[in-house]
Amino acid sequence: MPLDIITGLQRGDEGKGAIVDRMLATGVYSWNVRFQGGANAGHTVTVGDQKLILHLIPSGVMHKKVELGLGQGMIIDPFGLREEVEQLVKLGIDVINRLYVSSGAKLVMPWDKMLDWAIDRVRAKAVGKKVEEGGGVATTQRGIGPAYANAISRDGITVAQLIRPKVLEKRLEVVVPVINCTIRGLQQELGLSNDELPEISIAEAFEQLKPIGEWLTPMACQLHNLLRESLMSVSDKWVLAEGGQGRFLSVDALCSYPSCTSSITTSNAVFAGLGLEMKKEWIGKIIGVVKAYQTAVGNHPMPTYIGNEYQAQIQEVGGEFGATTGRKRDCCWLNALELREAARFCDVIYVTKLDVLTNIPLIPIATALVLNDDPFTELPETWDEYMQCHPLYGINMPGWTGDISGIRKTEDLPRQARIYLAKIARITGKRIIGVGVGPEREQYCT
Ligand code: GDP
Ligand code: MG
Repeated sequence: MPLDIITGLQRGDEGKGAIVDRMLATGVYSWNVRFQGGANAGHTVTVGDQKLILHLIPSGVMHKKVELGLGQGMIIDPFGLREEVEQLVKLGIDVINRLYVSSGAKLVMPWDKMLDWAIDRVRAKAVGKKVEEGGGVATTQRGIGPAYANAISRDGITVAQLIRPKVLEKRLEVVVPVINCTIRGLQQELGLSNDELPEISIAEAFEQLKPIGEWLTPMACQLHNLLRESLMSVSDKWVLAEGGQGRFLSVDALCSYPSCTSSITTSNAVFAGLGLEMKKEWIGKIIGVVKAYQTAVGNHPMPTYIGNEYQAQIQEVGGEFGATTGRKRDCCWLNALELREAARFCDVIYVTKLDVLTNIPLIPIATALVLNDDPFTELPETWDEYMQCHPLYGINMPGWTGDISGIRKTEDLPRQARIYLAKIARITGKRIIGVGVGPEREQYCT
């Protein structure tokens, strides 16, 4: 039965979590899985009057009949995972019995967070800035970059290795000396003592990791085999794969590199990240999620930065503060060049947060960029050029007023809102299958 995919078409925080929640509420899915990224994603789950921020566990955790999978393309901090699971268990939500962690997933080790912090300082130092001034790559400091780097350079540790103490010990004997070389280099470059940036002891690492391996053991499995069984079954056992971040945070987005995340975030990464062979008969809908405006956190090319009084209004009404970092998100108008490129990675689109644009008198959409007086309609090939681009707003349309959060049919939306949606559909060349008009489960139009 089909594998449906939810993928962000911007820079993350498009509201993918809310759509996952709505889709799972249909009852046809038996799996909600993630295939890339790690604890750098963030979504808020409400339990009664409690709000939980989850980073690793898929957004659909509140749907009790749905199995949750963490694919091998992810990078998993086992300590962070335990914290999330324990928070949920405390609130009476059973996750342990329905959480499946791919034994092929690589782990974020305690030293990866330290490397993340230190390496970003070296980057900032190289350009004569502080990390806080935008000198680094604005990492979430969760160790994601170093952990992926170590995984690729074959100095990572898999879930399967972690849960076998003998194998773990042998791995640490090889991995730790490599990591310590890096640590010594960083100490020297940053003028830090061994107390400030300590070398790793194999024995201590083993003592710290062994218990978390025991904790993870019942959840570790060959997830790809379970998913294949579901996909091949004739009964209704659909799989919903949920992407983290978005198209322009993907490590393969030329115009964003290196201001991006460390994994491929697009729908291209789904099969590899779930450890499945690619079969076209398994692919259901690929739903691209577009927020009605866009946001970014950190040092990103944002030629359409709003910059006037509507910046604060959108930030406030849209609650644009990072779930992972708490950082204020910069808000921007849509950019047709980005939308067109990103929409190639999906079949249909879902527009979110249309309600947030209510009461904005004039809504522009950039249709071209200008660099050194040259207008062009393709995205630049480097971040450096993109940072110097100015937008040309080929679309400037009047907005709408009035509360739209109670509307459930797209045709009942104010005329100007419908025109705005039609423009998005035209730019992307994709059909809009849903429109978010509020954060609640029922607040969307079809
Ligand atoms: P994700 O990372 O893509 O899942 O998105 P985030 O959860 O980081 O940010 C989306 C936020 O917007 C969440 O707090 C959602 O509850 C909220 N949200 C999602 N869709 C809508 C919508 O249509 N309207 C409004 N006002 N809020 C929404
Ligand atoms: Mg988010």
